[in-house]
Amino acid sequence: MDLVAYTRAAPHRGETVSGREFRTVPGGKGTNQAIAAARAGGAVAMIGAVGDDDLGPRLRAALEGAGVDTAALRTVHGPSGIAHIVVDDDGGNSIVVVPGANGTVTGLAPGDEERIAAADALLMQLELPMEGVLAGARAARARGVRTVLTPAPAQPLPDELLALTDLLVPNEHEAAALTGHHVPRRAAVAFLDLVPEVVITLGEAGSLYAARGVEPFTVPALPVRAVDTTAAGDTFVGALSVAAGEGRPMADAMAWAAAAAAHAVQRPGASSSMPTREEIDTLHT
Ligand code: ADP
Repeated sequence: MDLVAYTRAAPHRGETVSGREFRTVPGGKGTNQAIAAARAGGAVAMIGAVGDDDLGPRLRAALEGAGVDTAALRTVHGPSGIAHIVVDDDGGNSIVVVPGANGTVTGLAPGDEERIAAADALLMQLELPMEGVLAGARAARARGVRTVLTPAPAQPLPDELLALTDLLVPNEHEAAALTGHHVPRRAAVAFLDLVPEVVITLGEAGSLYAARGVEPFTVPALPVRAVDTTAAGDTFVGALSVAAGEGRPMADAMAWAAAAAAHAVQRPGASSSMPTREEIDTLHT
């Protein structure tokens, strides 16, 4: 759950400031991607955990409201995962993430393996413990299920996780942090030593695709007026995975995902601004 306080300027150490507004918004990269994929028309199941606090049922309800199957979402004793976010009037933010229940997902529970086996793709982000992510990736690979990894928050990636990743989808900052290359094309080529396919998202500059044996290409973003780019990347990955799972060619899937993200950035909010399949189709020409 994102706990967001809006204030003129963020407090310095030892200082207390008055804020203007406070909101609790269901979030986290896993939840955002699950909701994005479900709204884009995918059949989505979420593996993860919420706490037995009062945030847990709200998080579960947000997923279910978007049509996400939460049978594999555990409720564990303790607090739900939160991001404590201070947004200042310049749009800058400072964030403290406390994993809470997410920190308990160190492996698969009974039934998770079958759920993964039944899927077209397993979407992974790095807001669960690495052991948990690896357990999911191993199960997917063993059953021939495509693995899609968003390497965020950026951190060094274990060799085993890279070896188990079919499609890596970093944003340009994560790509630079992971490869040391600030030119996206260079970063993409460097990634191909590690994974077979990569899509680097470039904000309003679109996205870049590279795969072994294929000439890299860029797909533009839609020229829209962005009011809130929170979760643009998660919306993109959710929609991309649905389109790719339907067997659409990558260039088309990326353009459809760009339409989904363009819809989301024109409205405030993260999961609340994610488009339905019909809304994506309207923007995608
Ligand atoms: P993240 O949210 O992970 O930082 P990006 O900022 O790269 O990811 O955005 C992901 C995708 O969302 C982009 O590839 C693009 O299609 C879309 N997008 C992001 N910002 C804008 C924008 N200002 N205008 C239009 N599309 C955008």
